[in-house]
Amino acid sequence: MHSLIKLLSIDFDGTLVSRVSEPVLDTQCMELIRELQNAGAIWAINTGRSVDLLESGLADFAFPMRPDFILTTERDVFRPGQNGDKWEPFGDWNERCARDHAELFSSADSVLAEVVDFVNRKTKARLIYEAERLEGLVAENDEEMKRIVEFIERARTEHPNLDYQRNTVYLRFCHADYHKGAALAELGRLLKVPRENIFASGDHHNDISMLDGKVAGMPSCPANAIPEVQEAVRNAGGYVAQKDHGAGVHEALLHFVESKSH
Ligand SMILES: [Mg+2]
Repeated sequence: MHSLIKLLSIDFDGTLVSRVSEPVLDTQCMELIRELQNAGAIWAINTGRSVDLLESGLADFAFPMRPDFILTTERDVFRPGQNGDKWEPFGDWNERCARDHAELFSSADSVLAEVVDFVNRKTKARLIYEAERLEGLVAENDEEMKRIVEFIERARTEHPNLDYQRNTVYLRFCHADYHKGAALAELGRLLKVPRENIFASGDHHNDISMLDGKVAGMPSCPANAIPEVQEAVRNAGGYVAQKDHGAGVHEALLHFVESKSH
């Protein structure tokens, strides 16, 4: 297969995998990804899941093949382990990322305290801590998430490096320099794949950084993507599929394979 696609960056939940309908995985989509892999393309999953949660997802949904790389928690970059481990950090990105986050969370302490206070007093959202550190939160519903995000937007004006990734009712705090788009840019740099040869697909707020045209020359989304994602993909000259989830990814891959290969 001859195609311009050399690197695929695909979101997991709601994009490659359907959590609301059957089948969970689209067979044709997985077959096309395998064909592209066989033709030399590299397949990365770019997800908000941690490494462990992604591994359980790959097992639970009986994936027919494994991704070549994984980008996890909307920021870390992993390659297959060379020493028996399943995955290991690719380059020094994860180390820099962890250091920048440690600095951020100590310097943004007072802003985070304001957020905690607001969430505890004004919402029913659940705060999530990892070790001692506030990792993020889970809202009761979209309306509550909207109120929380509005509060964070006001609070972070004094600390613009403090940002967040939002995916349905989940929110994770992060350094403004780290997101799915930045992780994908680093993977492209390490693999020497230019922007023009990168395909990306996602469905929610946390995917916009890889779908706005800056990092991936072939951005796309399935039909179930939220309106903000569809708009970002359209503005970047990408492809908005008519089908949902994996069937939509398949449709988008075919679009770019066919329209740009000759
Ligand atoms: Mg998603």
